[in-house]
Amino acid sequence: MLNQISYKKFSLNTHLDNLRSGRPNSCQLELTYGCGLRCVHCYVASYNRPESIARELSTAKVKKIIDELRNAGVLWVCFTGGDPLTRKDFCELYTYAREKGFLITIFTNGYSLRQEHIELFRRQPPFIIEITLNAVDKGLYEKISGVKGSFKKVMASIGALRRHKIPLKIKAMVTKLNSQHIGKIKKYALVNDLPLALDDFLHAGLGLSPRPLEFRLPPEYFSLRTKRKGNSCPVIPKERKAVRNALFPCVAAGGDGFQIGPYGHISACCLIRRPDLNVLKNGVGPAVKKMVEYFRNLDFTTDSKCKTCARRDECGWCPGKAWVETGSLEKPLDYCCAIAKANDNQ
Ligand code: SF4
Ligand code: SF4
Ligand code: SF4
Repeated sequence: MLNQISYKKFSLNTHLDNLRSGRPNSCQLELTYGCGLRCVHCYVASYNRPESIARELSTAKVKKIIDELRNAGVLWVCFTGGDPLTRKDFCELYTYAREKGFLITIFTNGYSLRQEHIELFRRQPPFIIEITLNAVDKGLYEKISGVKGSFKKVMASIGALRRHKIPLKIKAMVTKLNSQHIGKIKKYALVNDLPLALDDFLHAGLGLSPRPLEFRLPPEYFSLRTKRKGNSCPVIPKERKAVRNALFPCVAAGGDGFQIGPYGHISACCLIRRPDLNVLKNGVGPAVKKMVEYFRNLDFTTDSKCKTCARRDECGWCPGKAWVETGSLEKPLDYCCAIAKANDNQ
């Protein structure tokens, strides 16, 4: 097995090589919008329906995309959703990608983990599995997940993965429902020797769904915490920082990674499902090229206050969040302005 230092070197060298030759490194492959849970703050909830799931890519089409990702130079693939484990062909797709040599991360909630998944992960371990665990208390967990009995199942999944030493990390979305409970999640992670990542910025859902916004933390919360302010996609390519007032001074314009949705559309930002570049029609290589051009060339077209606002690095605003909340890439968000104001009063 590679040790930590050699993996870091390997990762860095691969990223540099790909950067020099203009090839992407990573892809988030959203295998489905389907999910067994119904979290109150879910941003894909409007697509977690049988009629939307029925339109998703077939096994053969996903395999074709996996082939193309390899040819395009991608090495890191993240299977995500929804919950990718709800796909009946998950094991087949995972095995296919694993045998192509990808380093595979899986984002799941653990609710739909089955014995056959565990056996597969034992034989062919993923790079890591990241399980979302928004509470370590049954009542609160199920208030958030919306599904009775889900807590017991998820905890059993975490237990099984740990017993079989599958690389595991837990994540939690901090909302107004669980913000007082985060200490307990941290303790659980510590006691069980699991890395923990927290996210605390809720944005609207796809399809302009405002429901997740009901569960946002008060703006004052952000002035009290000391770490990361602002965007949840913090990697800003150096050359984009230099582009003054660019609409996308973020990973979306970097070309390092991208996302492919359950219908085959490619995007550099999981919140902006346009342009409607379908990798099956265009091919991954040309689609990535067009997508990067699109995000690099988009600039403000209005006199939005955000264009020149000095608070942009700290308020959490970005075009993706503006898009899902207002249908415009450029409109300021009251919530973000309130975060900037709360910082003033700190
Ligand atoms: S686990 Fe994720 S995809 Fe599933 S309902 Fe919750 S937020 Fe949505
Ligand atoms: S959302 Fe408000 S604080 Fe943030 S960049 Fe726009 S105008 Fe400034
Ligand atoms: S627009 Fe926002 S959500 Fe999209 S990649 Fe950039 S920072 Fe992330």
